[in-house]
Amino acid sequence: MLKKKPPFKLNAEHVALDFVNTLDDRFAPDGPHELLPSYAELLRFCRQAGVLTYAEAARLNAVPAASQKSALREAIGLREMLARVCYRWLQGKSPAAEDRQALRQWAARCMQHRELRWKDGRLAWEWRPFHGEAETPVLLLAQAAVELLTADQPPRLHACASGTCRWLFLDTSRNGTRRWCDMKICGNREKARRYSAAHRN
Ligand SMILES: [Zn+2]
Repeated sequence: MLKKKPPFKLNAEHVALDFVNTLDDRFAPDGPHELLPSYAELLRFCRQAGVLTYAEAARLNAVPAASQKSALREAIGLREMLARVCYRWLQGKSPAAEDRQALRQWAARCMQHRELRWKDGRLAWEWRPFHGEAETPVLLLAQAAVELLTADQPPRLHACASGTCRWLFLDTSRNGTRRWCDMKICGNREKARRYSAAHRN
């Protein structure tokens, strides 16, 4: 189940943003397209993004379907809340009060699954041992998102300049000039569009 399909495009430079991008063509007239139609696909995404090990994903793939279904529902809820927060962020707007509240609840829930350990001469938060709970990947993604959105150094959040794509990414280029989720896809498509527009006149 974890092979065969083409890999997810992980080009956001952060797993939480790659996760938001799994609702593809979010703003396109013929969109959106759901890339996580099943819990198995959520596992495949998490495996590829390095959120779960192969063994963890295999174990979660075998948990009861009802738990998988409710975890998937939670994952989609988390993703859409993050999308609202991020796309408002791009407009310089605060998240809606209920989304801020939801983010706080996710942070609190993640905290309940972590322990404070003494490690290598310092205190560190660690996840409780994995016992195959279906919600595990959702919590890991939520924690990654909370850390990104509340970092001391605000993330250099951008959306792809293609109006139909608008995938999120962090601009990690030195001069801060990245415009596309993928130059080879959206960058070239836009260039081709401009070229044909210019030559039509
Ligand atoms: Zn794009």
